[in-house]
Amino acid sequence: MADAAQLDEVVRAWLRCAAQAVHERRASLTELDAAIGDGDHGINLDRGFMALLADLDAGVPAPGDPASTLTAAGRRLMGIVGGASGALYGRGLMVAGERVRAMLAGSGGVAAGADMAGAILAGLVDGVTGLGHAGPGDKTMLDALMPAAGALGALDPALPGTRLEAAARAAADGAEGTTPLVARKGRASYLGERSAGHRDPGAASSALLVGCLVDACLADVAAR
Ligand code: ADP
Ligand code: MG
Repeated sequence: MADAAQLDEVVRAWLRCAAQAVHERRASLTELDAAIGDGDHGINLDRGFMALLADLDAGVPAPGDPASTLTAAGRRLMGIVGGASGALYGRGLMVAGERVRAMLAGSGGVAAGADMAGAILAGLVDGVTGLGHAGPGDKTMLDALMPAAGALGALDPALPGTRLEAAARAAADGAEGTTPLVARKGRASYLGERSAGHRDPGAASSALLVGCLVDACLADVAAR
């Protein structure tokens, strides 16, 4: 079990990893968006995560509470990224913050990292769904996030490493699986059948985020 300060370190490690992963892949994310959208996904997300990194470096918000860190991150991305994904990731992170706050309130302030990851993924899915009203198979970020949340929740709670690895794999497979789909939500849906044959950029960035969340939690599992 980890306390709030330790869990906050996991969240911060996650967000830093995500910022780096998005930065490294910004060109390929933008390329995916150029094929079925307007070609801004990687650039916009990178700008938001860089602003978020600057906040973390400046100690904003003050370390110690994972829920506050998630809420602040959501607000930051919502304000900076723009477009559909800025609002969706922003809202998702804010709901994730609420879920983590509720989880810690119900468990005396301690939790396993994998369980916090479950609360974060559930919050992301519910936040994104609540705002964007997309579902499985609509060729969106949810096609990576939903299978990841499902895999983490479905397996034996006594095997956090196995659950986390399954979640990362499910997100990567889900993103890959968007290629043949016809988009039913977002800008790509304007293309109709012509959206098929391209990986969804939001699903690709979501797989990066889930991969980093899993890495941050696995590092925590190994350290405990
Ligand atoms: P925009 O389309 O406004 O330029 P981005 O390029 O930043 O936004 O993000 C596009 C991604 O947002 C898509 O690839 C898709 O994954 C995701 N997306 C768009 N609309 C929705 C929605 N209603 N629900 C979930 N995800 C969505
Ligand atoms: Mg775009």
